[in-house]
Amino acid sequence: MPPVIGISTRPRELESPEGESSAHTLQRTYTNAVLRAGGVPVLLAPVPDPQVGALIDRIDGLVLSGGGDVDPARYGSATDDTMFGIDFERDQFEIELVRTAKAQRLPTLAICRGLQVVNVALGGSLIEDIPTEVGSADHTILGHEVFNGHQHVSLDPTCLVAKVVGTNDLQVNSIHHQAVREVAPGFRPVGRADDGVIEAIEFEDPEWALLAVQWHPEYLSDADDPASLALFKALVDATAARQLTV
Ligand code: MN
Repeated sequence: MPPVIGISTRPRELESPEGESSAHTLQRTYTNAVLRAGGVPVLLAPVPDPQVGALIDRIDGLVLSGGGDVDPARYGSATDDTMFGIDFERDQFEIELVRTAKAQRLPTLAICRGLQVVNVALGGSLIEDIPTEVGSADHTILGHEVFNGHQHVSLDPTCLVAKVVGTNDLQVNSIHHQAVREVAPGFRPVGRADDGVIEAIEFEDPEWALLAVQWHPEYLSDADDPASLALFKALVDATAARQLTV
C-alpha cells in the first residue's frame, strides 16, 4: 500500500456562500509532489494537542508546509511590522506535531515555515527579518520565479539533503523573510545561501528521517526539478524503512 503523507495546511479567509469564512488551505503543488513521489497526500487540519497522537498514528510521513510567520513569543522575541500571518492555532498544532514526530521518529519533510517551526518547537530561534538584519533583498522573490532556481545554496557534502539531491551546490527558489538564528539543540546548519543565511538544518540522530529546507521544493518539483522531486521521493521511501535510504 502506498504510504499516507500528512501535509499541514494554512488558515485563510475565503469567499464562500455565507460571505468571508475561515478555511484550511494548501497549494496543489504540495499534493502534486507527494503524488508524483508515490505517496497518498492527506491534508491536516489543526487539532488540540491531546489528539495529535491519534493523528500521527494514522499517517506514515509528514510534510510541514510553508506559510506565515511563527509567533515570535514562541522564541522569546516580539512582534514587529515586518511579520505577517501569525496564527496561534497553527503554531500550537505544528509545534505539537514536531514534538510528536520527533518522539516517534516519523519521517518528515519540513519546508520553509516548516523548517522554522521545527527549529522553534525544539528550542531554537529565528532571524525576525532578513532584509532588516542581514541586508539581503533576494530571499523573497515571488511571481513566476518561484518555479526557478535563482538562489545558490552550498550544502555540507556529508548532510542528508546533499546525499538525497546528489550535489553540494544547489540552485533553489526563495520565498522567506525569516531564517534560523540559533539552531535548536541537537541540530546543525547544513546549507547556507551566499550571504550566510541558513537554508537547511539537520538533526543529530539519523534514526529520525528529517529533511528540513528553507526553500520550496514543491514549486520546483512542479517544474520538473529532479533535486526537488528527490526530496519528496526520499520522504516517501523513508516511510517503509523509517529512515532515509541514500
Ligand atoms: Mn533563501
